[in-house]
Amino acid sequence: MNASFIDLHIHTNCSDGTFAPEKVIEIAHDKGLSAIAITDHDTIDAIAPAIQFSHKFGIEVIPGIELSAYDESLEVHILGYFIDYNKAWLNEKLSDIREVRRKRFEEIINKLTHFGIVLKKTTINLDKNISYGRPHIAQLLFNEGHVSCIQEAFKKYLGNDCPCYVEKKRLSIADAIEIIRHAHGIPVLAHPGVLKNDANISHYIEKGIRGIEIYHSEHSKSDEQKYLQIAHDNNLLITGGSDCHGHCKPEVLIGKTKLPYSFLERLKEEHLK
Ligand code: AMP
Ligand code: FE
Ligand code: FE
Ligand code: ZN
Repeated sequence: MNASFIDLHIHTNCSDGTFAPEKVIEIAHDKGLSAIAITDHDTIDAIAPAIQFSHKFGIEVIPGIELSAYDESLEVHILGYFIDYNKAWLNEKLSDIREVRRKRFEEIINKLTHFGIVLKKTTINLDKNISYGRPHIAQLLFNEGHVSCIQEAFKKYLGNDCPCYVEKKRLSIADAIEIIRHAHGIPVLAHPGVLKNDANISHYIEKGIRGIEIYHSEHSKSDEQKYLQIAHDNNLLITGGSDCHGHCKPEVLIGKTKLPYSFLERLKEEHLK
């Protein structure tokens, strides 16, 4: 149909992005995108305001989510598209997951004290509606002068192999897929190139993954080729997006990865099945 472009992986300040839902829409409009998906970690709170605001700009907003699941100790992100975000049970489930994130936030802050870092801002009450992640702590470390950039916070303290890392184990792959399906969403394996564990992709497909995120700001051309082949061989849908988090990753903004609207048409067909 038309030659318009879409970005199907965007975070807002309801999780660990820095742009408010309305700002996301404005930027998407400035970049000339015709549709976007909001895919916050463990929250759907940005979806309604984004949709409401989108009418002003004629941008289509796909309701999405990004869940963190665990395959043993490997953290695997599962995207869900076209989720029914008006379900009370879904909100309750996500609220429980966010509580795990808040406890973990405190644990990480505590671990940092072993390195002589006492963050001043941690006496603030954590907001139940925000899905807190390591980027929030990285930002505090930067704001209070303990690191010179966000990357350094991850490199020294927060990265998966770093001393202040704390797991947020909560869902298995099957649990995450079940939540998305139960909310009438399409489960998609997020950025497998970041995961670097291709051997397990077949298990995720067996568990019900319906698509793979092929295009992503951290995927190389050879990643794209490899995952396209896997998608083709397994009859999987193809998605892609920037994974924009706003100012905390300024090199990856909305529309950095974009794909033709036709990919969204395939997703819609699957959704209507
Ligand atoms: P969490 O969900 O709390 O474990 O945090 C994971 C999030 O941290 C990812 O979605 C990214 O937004 C961010 N992140 C992970 N590694 C890095 C890194 N090296 N530099 C900047 N942001 C990162
Ligand atoms: Fe994130
Ligand atoms: Fe992710
Ligand atoms: Zn993401």
